[in-house]
Amino acid sequence: MIELVAKKSNKDSKPAYLRRAIDKAIPEALTILTERYTIPAGHELERFDFSTARRGAHFVPHKNLIELGCNNYLSTYKRKTVGEYFEGGKVDLDCALACKIVHELTHWVQYIEGRRYSEVETTENELALIRKFHPYWAKRIKTL
Ligand SMILES: [Zn+2]
Repeated sequence: MIELVAKKSNKDSKPAYLRRAIDKAIPEALTILTERYTIPAGHELERFDFSTARRGAHFVPHKNLIELGCNNYLSTYKRKTVGEYFEGGKVDLDCALACKIVHELTHWVQYIEGRRYSEVETTENELALIRKFHPYWAKRIKTL
């Protein structure tokens, strides 16, 4: 079971358009994650924090915390084993946020499963999310 809730105190201080985008992005990211992984019992991601100050996203394991920059820029890693990547640029805010969230949640899964962090999986999951929920932007997925 995985439950992801934006930290209320933080979320409330954000503008309405950003709260709406986050509320849309979280279920999309969780859908991709639960389709691809079985989350071990006892692991729940209860806190979700986000920042407009930071540009990059990151995951803080011991705090069970994900931070992500709330901007509409999206790009993915270019990994030969994935064979494709997302060409960097601006997209819809909720699309960018959902990809950043699924990226960091993938690292969270790797962490709780005791595996090495891999940007292959994060990239695959971001591309899967774009295709499922934001097909308009799939045109910017390019082969390597
Ligand atoms: Zn990463």
